[in-house]
Parts: sequence; structure tokens; C-alpha cells
Amino acid sequence: MKYIDEYRDAGQSRAIAEEIRRRTTRPHTIMEICGGQTHSIVRFGVDTFLPEEITLVHGPGCPVCVTPIEQIDRAIAIASRPGVIFTSFGDMLRVPGSETDLLSVRAAGGDVRIVYSPLDAVRIARENPERETVFFAVGFETTAPANAMAVFQARELGLRNFTVLVSHVLVPPAIETILSSPGNRVEGFLAAGHVCAVMGTEEYVPIAKKHRVPIVVTGFEPLDIFQGILLVVRQLEEGRAEVENAYARTARDEGNAAARALIARVFRVTDRKWRGIGSIPRSGLGLAEEFAGFDAETRFDVASQTAEESPICISGLILQGVKKPPECPAFGTVCVPEHPLGATMVSSEGACAAYYRYRRT
Ligand code: SF4
Repeated sequence: MKYIDEYRDAGQSRAIAEEIRRRTTRPHTIMEICGGQTHSIVRFGVDTFLPEEITLVHGPGCPVCVTPIEQIDRAIAIASRPGVIFTSFGDMLRVPGSETDLLSVRAAGGDVRIVYSPLDAVRIARENPERETVFFAVGFETTAPANAMAVFQARELGLRNFTVLVSHVLVPPAIETILSSPGNRVEGFLAAGHVCAVMGTEEYVPIAKKHRVPIVVTGFEPLDIFQGILLVVRQLEEGRAEVENAYARTARDEGNAAARALIARVFRVTDRKWRGIGSIPRSGLGLAEEFAGFDAETRFDVASQTAEESPICISGLILQGVKKPPECPAFGTVCVPEHPLGATMVSSEGACAAYYRYRRT
């Protein structure tokens, strides 16, 4: 398939892996930020082609995995109310809250609908003026522009029955948190190419400088990932710590100016709790004052809800690169995709789901 096969070329991948081997003289631990990259690494066995000195650890870049359990419970509470149409991307429906999930709410008669764009939720709100329509606005910087556009359009249309349950998170503060943690072992990062396509690369420059870590903007196919690893290894071996862009076919250093402007207009930066990790200052987006009337937490009065994680689940350690899924005692036994204990076993981008699917044996 054009634009995919050329980035899965086995011969070129082996050649880059060989180059990585040639340049590696000592151990290095590298983290890929995005869950999509994790799935490519595990699915195509990228790590198995690397020299044993290179350890890949998996980062927190799976939006479904880091949405806090309280927010899932809030979504469930809102979706269970009579008269509400609750809309969401499909992968949020099976994420476990503290007692149940959105799919079970739907099975019990709740009007929970899967949409492929937040603008579909705006359309549903227009078509159902007598009912409240809520959209579950989760994700990183990648989904923020479309979600911002939905809120913006709803206001332009004068919709009073549309709100968003916002749980947006930002990548750079998470990288800062990982690098600042006492047990950190990550020496270099593969940054997520699609996030940089929106936001550009400038936010990463002070992080690379302050922590002396190479950060390479990387795509999602095997060849992209081998290339990203090679650039990180090259920097580590040469004692450099810079931001490099190995995904220039999509991401520009300045990002997407229109998308950034829309995000800045509709949202404001706020503290945000990450599932399994905890609260990270200025690591999320909430609605700006001007759009506060579209906040579902306020409209449905669910902001004070609290919840507890499963004591068995170690997904927080996995998302920070401290452990890998097979090290969890529940992996593949009491925790499987059909009965997940944590979000990393549910999401199509979750590390536990990737290992379960491709490395179970
Ligand atoms: S295998 Fe299940 S319980 Fe263990 S970390 Fe992953 S999601 Fe949590």
C-alpha cells in the first residue's frame, strides 16, 4: 500500500539496525512517547533487531490509558442520566472506571454513541434540541484542534444543549515529569510525530537542553522508528542533546499555526491528573473562560467525584518506563482485553494490549 509499504521495508530496516549496532558502544535507554509507536515496535519486533545495549521503554502517550479513573466515572455518571446523549470515540467505551464502563451503561439502556469526529456530536446536538448532548473530549495535542473546533462551532450555532467533558493532556510536561523523577533511566526520547505536526518542536528545545537528553521527532512505521532510534543513539554516542526532526514529511518545526491558534483560543493550560501517574502541573487543557458554558463537569455537577485505582494494576509504572507489561502479575491472567483491570490493556495504543496481542507466548 502506497505510503505504508515503503516505511515497512525489511531491507532498509535491517540496514539501519546494523548502523545502530555499529554506532552503539555502551548501554542506552530510550523511550518512545506514543502508544502508536509502542504498537509498531512490539508488532514488528523492532526491539529484537537492536543491539542488547539498547533498551526501549514505553511512554505515557496513550490518551485512553492516561485519562484518570475519576474522569471515566464522571463520564459514566453523565451518560447514565435520562435525556443525555453521551458521545465518544469508540476506544473509551471499554475503559474501566471504578465500578463499570460506558459500554455497560449503553447495555443498560443509556444513550451512548460512538462518533468519529467531535463535529458529529455537534450535529447530534442540533438534531436533538430537546436533549443534552455531551462529547468526551480526551486526547493529546493531536485531538485538541478538532475538539476546540467543535466547541467553537457549537457557540457559533448558539447551541445550548451541547457540552464537552474535557480530559486533554500535554506531552512536554509529562516528559519533564519522567526526567525529574528520582528513578528515571530514560536517556533519550522518540517524540510523537503527530503531536509535533500540530504543536511544532519548540517546546522540546528547553527540555533537551535542561536535562541533556536527545529528543527526536519520529513517525510510526518501523522504518521511522529505526531512523528515530539511530538519531538518538548517534547523539548519545557523540555527547549531544538536541531536538531533531525525523518526521519532516508531516511535522514542521513551527507546527500548524491555525490549529495552535484555535487551541489557544478555546482552551487554557491547567493542572491535570494522569491515570496511574498522578497530578502533573500545567499538563492539561481545560476550557477557556470564554467557553466555560460548554463545560459538562459544571453543567452536570460531577467535578467533585473521586475514585480508587485497582491496587494490582502497575500501569503507572509502565507508562513511566519503569516496568514492562509482562512484569505485572495480572498480565494475561486476571487482566486480559476482555476483562481489563487497567486502561493500558484496553486501548488500541496501550502497552499491555500490545504485549498481549503480539508477545503473549
Ligand atoms: S496487565 Fe492489566 S493490571 Fe497489569 S498493568 Fe497492564 S492493565 Fe494494569
